[in-house]
Amino acid sequence: MSPVQTAVTHAVELDGVAVRFRSKKTDVTALRDVSLRVADGEFVTIVGPSGCGKSTLLKLASGLLRPSSGAVRLRGDTVTGPRRDIGYVFQRAALLDWRTARRNILLQAEMRHMPSADAEKRTDELIAMTGLTGFEDAYPHELSGGMQQRVALCRALLHKPPLLLMDEPFGALDALTREQMNVELRRIWRETGTTVLLVTHSIAEAVYLADRVVMMTARPGTVAGVIDVDLPAERDYVRTMADPEFARATRHIREHLGATSASD
Ligand code: ADP
Ligand code: MG
Repeated sequence: MSPVQTAVTHAVELDGVAVRFRSKKTDVTALRDVSLRVADGEFVTIVGPSGCGKSTLLKLASGLLRPSSGAVRLRGDTVTGPRRDIGYVFQRAALLDWRTARRNILLQAEMRHMPSADAEKRTDELIAMTGLTGFEDAYPHELSGGMQQRVALCRALLHKPPLLLMDEPFGALDALTREQMNVELRRIWRETGTTVLLVTHSIAEAVYLADRVVMMTARPGTVAGVIDVDLPAERDYVRTMADPEFARATRHIREHLGATSASD
């Protein structure tokens, strides 16, 4: 590091990262020269065509996958293996059928051997925050898709992770539920102050949620551009959809992604 460089640490930092999957049968370069910095407390969304390496990028940040070259750092620490200081939410809620909503959330505490009084208190807070009050004792099959994702979100937030990774978390929900979850996720993000890195196929979702949107190219995935979303912090859904900045940002992304796939 040069002496003039300031020691700003980022929540997430990818520095010239490449990921190549090689086996006897395959040789796929999933990511190529990806550099990205996410500030503490920022909400960053990632959009790009299917197979461009979005999930791979989240796996790198979680330490589930090591880069073939380049470096991945969380708060300045090089990631060398699975990290415990993150929360992960996937497209499927992946709840245990035989446990109630509350006990599914508490699974996180059991895996981490958290003191049970703390875990119970935090669970109560999260249930209230995510609007699950009244459904604590319901089993997954008794919950709607949106409710199940709320439970998954509570489970991911139980240990107050400084970084929340979300991989197409609302992709399986109907359009209206998805909008409602977008509104609630932004509110929850503002209440918790956690850094969020979220992958989505939806351009509208990417813009509504984010401070910045990362646009990726088709495989081998790389960062094609990053745009700032200049919308107010408080985002009423209907008003945001009608905001000229929302139209500008979504058009920019659409043109960009269209151009990328056309040149592929
Ligand atoms: P996305 O989430 O953007 O749809 P992924 O990150 O899942 O894309 O995958 C990027 C590319 O890497 C795809 O071509 C996929 O087939 C390939 N890939 C992902 N994981 C593996 C793996 N474990 N082994 C081999 N290829 C993989
Ligand atoms: Mg994926």
